[in-house]
Amino acid sequence: MAISGKAAIAGVIGWPVGHSLSPRLHGYWLDCYGIDGAYIPLAVEPADIIAAIHALAKLGFAGANVTVPHKQAAAAAADRLDDNARRLGAVNTITVGKDGTITGSNTDGFGFMENLRHGAPDWRAEHGPAVVLGAGGAARAVVAALGDAGVAEVRVVNRTFERAEQLADDLGGNISPLPWDALSDALGDAGVLVNTTPLGMAGQARLDIDLAALPVAAVVNDIVYAPLETELLSASRARGNTVVEGIGMLLHQARPGFAAWFGQEPEVTPELRKHIVEALKG
Ligand code: NAP
Repeated sequence: MAISGKAAIAGVIGWPVGHSLSPRLHGYWLDCYGIDGAYIPLAVEPADIIAAIHALAKLGFAGANVTVPHKQAAAAAADRLDDNARRLGAVNTITVGKDGTITGSNTDGFGFMENLRHGAPDWRAEHGPAVVLGAGGAARAVVAALGDAGVAEVRVVNRTFERAEQLADDLGGNISPLPWDALSDALGDAGVLVNTTPLGMAGQARLDIDLAALPVAAVVNDIVYAPLETELLSASRARGNTVVEGIGMLLHQARPGFAAWFGQEPEVTPELRKHIVEALKG
């Protein structure tokens, strides 16, 4: 839709940024709610990230999303971090205050948990330990969110064991770091299994794991969303587990930023999902 001179402006900062689905996602909501606003891709080289973040205030932006590889640098550049961004050391959402101050937050864990709750409404934190595959940036957000949701023990299984140990040290709480070959034992009483590695993504290696020990009552969530139904999800579905696809995390993590910049709580609907899935296919 046409915008006025008073339009609220936000965008996504990444390098590269051309693959980002965020302009399509926020653009859908802007159209849907008839908002006088715009959301644009902002390709920023790593060397320029600090200057670019401070320029947001000077250019009158309401805020921005931050994606790979800038999430840690954005945490360093922000004037203020909310508790979650501080704990994760990474920012994916920036809001510019009326006084020009930059506040960094991290909504990946919110997106993950909202997606889990919508996709598996019967899941409860008390159903058993969570098993998280991977210990990278996405895993940090997921592990912290599971702990916040009341999961008593989060088992982090990673190829590089030391990275799982580091994650546990950094986040604190009841996190058990485990090497990859301990996976089968870790699954025995799990209430939820989450893949946060890129394994199973189109163009990546297969996620080759044995699900035999996983209770059929456990929920399986893959945060990989291309393909929408990964091999992990189809194998889990076939043995009777409730499965949660990763695309919903992407859609839900966008909600707090949109609400802060454009003053409207947006909804994740089947039509929005379809709109984003079309772009994934295209
Ligand atoms: P990252 O920081 O690079 O971490 C990748 C993790 O995967 C590490 O723990 C790494 O283990 C593990 N890994 C990579 N290749 C592996 C292999 N061949 N075998 C075993 N483990 C392997 O990446 P990230 O930012 O966390 O992102 C991870 C995935 O999540 C990506 O596919 C990304 O697209 C997806 N994601 C989805 C959403 C969503 O909204 N649905 C949001 C964020 C991320 P090592 O420590 O041993 O290297």
